[in-house]
Amino acid sequence: MPLPTDVGLTFIGTIHTPFTARGMCPRQGDVEDGPECRIVLLPELEPALDGIERFERIEVLYWLHLARRDLLTQSPKGDGAARGTFSLRSPLRPNPIGTSSVRLLRRDGATLLVRGLDCLDGTPLVDLKPDRCSYAVQARAKGQD
Ligand code: SAM
Repeated sequence: MPLPTDVGLTFIGTIHTPFTARGMCPRQGDVEDGPECRIVLLPELEPALDGIERFERIEVLYWLHLARRDLLTQSPKGDGAARGTFSLRSPLRPNPIGTSSVRLLRRDGATLLVRGLDCLDGTPLVDLKPDRCSYAVQARAKGQD
C-alpha cells in the first residue's frame, strides 16, 4: 500500500538568520559562538509559547525548503564514498526536516532570540519543544511527564 502523502503539516513561523546562501551556513549550529537568530512564530500562535522562558535549551524543527528530496545515497564529502541518506544529517532527504538544540537568549512576544541555528534566512518553522534533557529534569522535579 502506498504511504499517505497528506500529513497535514503547517508551518508555524519563519526562522531569520544572517545566512543568505547555503554556503554561508555552518553544517551544525553553535550555541556558544553562533550568531543571534530570530524565530518568529505566527502571531496567532503566541499563547503556545507560554512558559518557554523556563528552558535554556529549545529543540527547533524546521523544513529545509531548498533541499533535494530524491537522494537515497550521497557523498557528503564529495569524495565518491556514498552513504545512505538516513545514516547522515545531510539536508538532502525525502522529508527535509532539520533539527537543532538552540540556546534561548530571550523572548520578545512571538519572537524567540536564539543561538545555535544552521539554516538559511527564511527557513520555515515546523515545531518547537523544550530540549529533552532540561525538560526531563524539570518534569522529574515536579512529578510530571
Ligand atoms: N542541524 C540540522 C540537522 O542536523 O538536522 C541541519 C543540518 S544540515 C547539515 C545544515 C545544512 O543545510 C546547512 O549547512 C546548509 O548547507 C543547508 N541548509 C540550511 N538551510 C537550508 C534550507 N532552508 N534549505 C536547504 N538547505 C539548507
